[in-house]
Amino acid sequence: MSFDAALKGFYAHLEELYRLRSIGALLGWDQQVNLPENGAASRAEQLECLSRIIHQRKTSPGFCALVDDLHAQSSALTEDDLVNVREIKRQLDIEKKLPEEFVAEKTRICSLSYIAWTKARPAGDFAAVKPHLQKVIELSRREAELIGFREHPYDALLDQFEPHMTLAQVKPLLLSLAERLGGIVPAIAEKTAGEVPVTGGVPEGSQAKLCARLAAGIGYDFKSGRLDKTHHPFESSLGRNDVRITTRYLADDFLSSVFSVLHETGHALYELGLPQERRGTPLGSAVSYGIHESQSRLWENIVGRSRAYSIYLHRMLKRFLPRVHKALSPEAVWLLCNRVRPSLIRVEADEVTYSLHVVIRMLLEEELIAGNLQVDDLPGAWNGLYEKFMGIRPSSDREGVLQDVHWYSGAIGYFPSYALGNLYGALFMGSARKALPDLDRQIEAGEFAPLLKWLRANVHVHGMRYRARELVEKVSGQTLSSGPFVEYLCAKFGV
Ligand code: ZN
Repeated sequence: MSFDAALKGFYAHLEELYRLRSIGALLGWDQQVNLPENGAASRAEQLECLSRIIHQRKTSPGFCALVDDLHAQSSALTEDDLVNVREIKRQLDIEKKLPEEFVAEKTRICSLSYIAWTKARPAGDFAAVKPHLQKVIELSRREAELIGFREHPYDALLDQFEPHMTLAQVKPLLLSLAERLGGIVPAIAEKTAGEVPVTGGVPEGSQAKLCARLAAGIGYDFKSGRLDKTHHPFESSLGRNDVRITTRYLADDFLSSVFSVLHETGHALYELGLPQERRGTPLGSAVSYGIHESQSRLWENIVGRSRAYSIYLHRMLKRFLPRVHKALSPEAVWLLCNRVRPSLIRVEADEVTYSLHVVIRMLLEEELIAGNLQVDDLPGAWNGLYEKFMGIRPSSDREGVLQDVHWYSGAIGYFPSYALGNLYGALFMGSARKALPDLDRQIEAGEFAPLLKWLRANVHVHGMRYRARELVEKVSGQTLSSGPFVEYLCAKFGV
């Protein structure tokens, strides 16, 4: 086969894989948004069948040989083609180690475990989902063994979310972050403890309209997406220019949906900002989950919980929730968005204590995967770490070990990405502020296009051209550390 034909075949194959993955994303989105209860088993079979086909196609001997062949001729590749070949080879070298039966089994087990969790969580019934979680942990440990690792089995799992990052790098970084946060939480909690008027219940329909307007406000195009209701908010890419988000609504806490929508919209803006014509190739894909989280958390927190955004949000309340608007001043909105205090539920945590929730989960994952902690003992270990890092203890598994979907759906090793996202986001925003000196006034006026444009030009456009750390260094001129994030918090809260 000629070099040109090989390259053409490479891209045709990637396109087919992308379409198959998009079909899988549609099945997954539908499973969480629309699926009737009795259709669950059939959907699990469909997802298993599709994951088997994708794995077969991706690791087919012909395609692997093609990639190896192109990789061996790296010097003849353009810079762009080289990125795509390099990253696909890296993915294949890992995926080839996972037998087809294993991949199919993991998909099926995780799908059933997710469904069991959706019932166990509202009931607070950890015992009901425990056998599922045990299987997921066993499979994850097996997966780490199959993929291989140098120092800790957790590295093999972490690498799937944050490529090239190891526990030996991430653990000291996040433990130092936890220590510095622990030092400033009491002072910030005191500063944000003021009384805020009670706003009462807000109907779901009004919240949904406000949330849609806020998502559109920061640049989400509803012709390329939609907003639906689920148990656990998420963003999902179903194809080119089809990037959807979901949220949940709490009647007595309308800010919960506001911030989850800003968060998921941040993810969606990144997906839509990646070069769409390169979707399905690494140059049209996200760098890592941590970089993904940097985009969602930047919009949710650094923008969404700023003083300038509180003034904008207050104006939006007048239009969408007039009764709430009447009860609150812009200052009260800011305080409502920024109440800092140790808490039990990660997705509702403030931006200061949030990373502590993540550190707790990382430490538990490390022990589960090392085999030092059994699922039977997990609720107790969870509660113990909350006592240690937060000084408070969950009174039920519902506000403890059952709260997050990740482990029950097989995503072990994901959590550090959230805290890394905070660190990356602070570094990106530091550079954005230098480039956009008028940013606060723009946010207050509801002009978000300049910031989005800057993020697209500096972060989104690159796809996987650089590793996460390289991208952060290139954009910020600084090496990764917890410093800029903690300094941003200290400046914001004046501590
Ligand atoms: Zn997220």
